[in-house]
This record gives sequence, C-alpha cells and structure tokens, in this order.
Amino acid sequence: MRSIKRDLEEQRSALTNAIKSLGTARDADQGREIVKDPYGAASMTHDDEIAATVADRRSRQLRQVTQALEDINAGRYGICRECGEAIAKARLRVMPFATRCVECQAKLEGLERAA
Ligand SMILES: [Zn+2]
Repeated sequence: MRSIKRDLEEQRSALTNAIKSLGTARDADQGREIVKDPYGAASMTHDDEIAATVADRRSRQLRQVTQALEDINAGRYGICRECGEAIAKARLRVMPFATRCVECQAKLEGLERAA
C-alpha cells in the first residue's frame, strides 16, 4: 500500500508540473468554457488546441490521482463504492483508479448501455 501511495504522489507532482509547464494550470472545466467562447476558439491555433486537450487530459488524471490519494488517506482505497467489497489487487494493478469491483462495474456499464 505504501508503494502505491508513493507512486501516486510521484504521479501527482509530475502531473502538476506538466500542467504548469503547459501554461494551462487552469481547471479543465474553465478550459472547456474558453473553447466554447466563439472569439476564444477563433483565436486558438492548432497547437493551442492540442495543448488544451493535453492539459484537459492531464488535469483529469490529476483529479483521479488526488482522489485515489484521498481514498488511501481515508482508508477506503481499493474498496468498491457500490458493494463495499475489496477490489481485486490484479484489477487495481491494471486500473489504479478503479472505484468499483469488476462485478459492479459490469453492472453499471450494463445499465448505461440499456439507458
Ligand atoms: Zn462491487
């Protein structure tokens, strides 16, 4: 558990630095609003758009990492939000930010597909 936490802390600082170096430390939601602005969008170059997409993805990752660290600190990391069972270690290794066990995730995706 300690090594997962250290990994996440390293990821968090790497992502924070990456976002800062892109010059888009702004929140992803604010970024989307700027893109929606017709004048802002018109003045955006292709490179700016790519940078905004990268920044958006990184800030989403940062949120996931931060959430996982909060869960670790609260002692609920690796616990399924739906059923409260422990999420399989193998699943967490592939998906470190999984918040549901395989069964609950499958159920949820089934519901989304039906909706
Ligand atoms: Zn579950």
